[in-house]
Amino acid sequence: MILGLMQDVPLLTTNILTHAEVAHGRVEIVSRTVEGRVHRYDYAGLARRTRQLARALQGLGVKSGDRIASLAWNTHRHLELFYGVPGLGAVLNTVNPRLFDDQIVYVLEHAESTVLFYDRTFAPLVERLADRFTTVKTFVLLSDAEQHEPGAVGALNYETLIGAQSGEAFDWPRFDENAGAFLCYTSGTTGDPKGVLYSHRAVVIHGLAAGLASAFGLTAFDVVMPCSSLYHATAWGLPFIAPINGCKIVLPAEKMDGASLQELILCEGVTFTGGVPTIWTMYLDWLDQNGQGVGDLKRVIIGGSAVPRAMAESFKTKHGVQVLQIWGMTETCPLGVVATPTPSVTALGEDQVDEIIWTRQGRLQFGIELKVVDDDGKECPRDGETSGALMVRGPWVVKRYFRKDADAIDDGGWFDTGDIATLDEHGFMRITDRAKDVIKTGGEWISSIDLENIAVACPGVKIAAVVGIPHPKWEERPLLVIETHEGRTVTKEDVLGFLQGKIVKWWTPDDVVFAPVPLTATGKIDKKTLRKAWNEHLM
Ligand code: ADP
Repeated sequence: MILGLMQDVPLLTTNILTHAEVAHGRVEIVSRTVEGRVHRYDYAGLARRTRQLARALQGLGVKSGDRIASLAWNTHRHLELFYGVPGLGAVLNTVNPRLFDDQIVYVLEHAESTVLFYDRTFAPLVERLADRFTTVKTFVLLSDAEQHEPGAVGALNYETLIGAQSGEAFDWPRFDENAGAFLCYTSGTTGDPKGVLYSHRAVVIHGLAAGLASAFGLTAFDVVMPCSSLYHATAWGLPFIAPINGCKIVLPAEKMDGASLQELILCEGVTFTGGVPTIWTMYLDWLDQNGQGVGDLKRVIIGGSAVPRAMAESFKTKHGVQVLQIWGMTETCPLGVVATPTPSVTALGEDQVDEIIWTRQGRLQFGIELKVVDDDGKECPRDGETSGALMVRGPWVVKRYFRKDADAIDDGGWFDTGDIATLDEHGFMRITDRAKDVIKTGGEWISSIDLENIAVACPGVKIAAVVGIPHPKWEERPLLVIETHEGRTVTKEDVLGFLQGKIVKWWTPDDVVFAPVPLTATGKIDKKTLRKAWNEHLM
């Protein structure tokens, strides 16, 4: 071997911030605040306040490798933590506030976070649990100074804290790009949440790859509004992807209802947004009810759960908006695949393109390898038909969970995602189920995702959830749980009639029930709770 003779510049998140300040310094960042204001500055302003924050963190004694926690919405202050904390070589532990109390305590304790930054929304939560946060030494409330309330934890005020520091030039430390930057925990639907420690290198390469034309295709003309939470796998990397590409950023805080999103989309000229399907169900409903259009919005990325075909169709036909489905997980930073057309797919005609783009989770992107294997670990053919366990490998895939002794990958470096999928000859991947949600009936499998996707298109249906529940003869049979749109009446006969002809007969749910559908902390249908609630229904 002979070493290359190029510059050994580590890939660090501060490089992104510095680039954005120098190249796109006047590009705006608009944020709602939890206090209900709209805050405006630009990348130069972000960089300046991040330097103030870095000095303040040093003043609190924060050192390289320390874990610093946040309980916060999508705001400019949270964005500053995204750069200030990792910039010093410390690790930002973004805690999902929708977890149960015990899980929140578990995450903070497991991460051993020493400082906790929180929005005022979470003051009651913090006060309730503070005694159980044994490693946290300092509490900082992310709020305007005038509205500061230190509460029983004696919180410092964020604005006062950073306001005391200079925003002038700061010597960001240069360190190994493999250093940890973000610590994100899975939602722990089975067992305790598991910590995934993203390195600077993973975050930067993921950010570069996600912006490519084959993926999000962002340019400096785009206005990006992340509606996936900053606390959930770094809002799909958008806080890095946007500045790399010089995009204006719009942050909605916690206000993800139709009217609030619409106001930002129209007033700020949002061209690109993304979030889980439930947000877009609400948004599309709101547009229908109010007879409004989407302004400059061009593309919406949707993932976290399968995109209902009806949703993608609505966006396209009513509003001219392209839906890009993505698949990923906390363990993959989180982007795995994105559904964008290719020449070979386009040659099949527009209907086929829509069919493929809307019903596949996405296609292979450079950097992430995928394979599907059978029960013996043998690779399945890439024929779009044969399903198996989905395995992934790449520079932004987890190797080992935080503070675990054993690696989470096999000898070949592959990580088992827990999803069941097919791959086809065009490089497209389709998730048929999560391994634990597959319905096993009389030795055959039914895809709960496919059934849900068809059922949700039935008029009046808002959410369709399918779970396998014990059956005396067939081991398990599908039960369809439906939540209807407000004020709509839908009957079992309507739904079964709608499914007829669209599915093979033996997939027909054994019953259709009408009830509110519970969601998990990451906005997915909570199948564990549903299975428990309806466990005896067919026995
Ligand atoms: P959690 O902590 O809730 O598991 P993750 O975001 O890590 O949150 O969840 C990842 C899982 O979400 C994937 O393994 C997959 O099952 C599901 N998922 C993500 N995107 C999609 C999609 N586009 N279609 C179907 N399932 C998806």
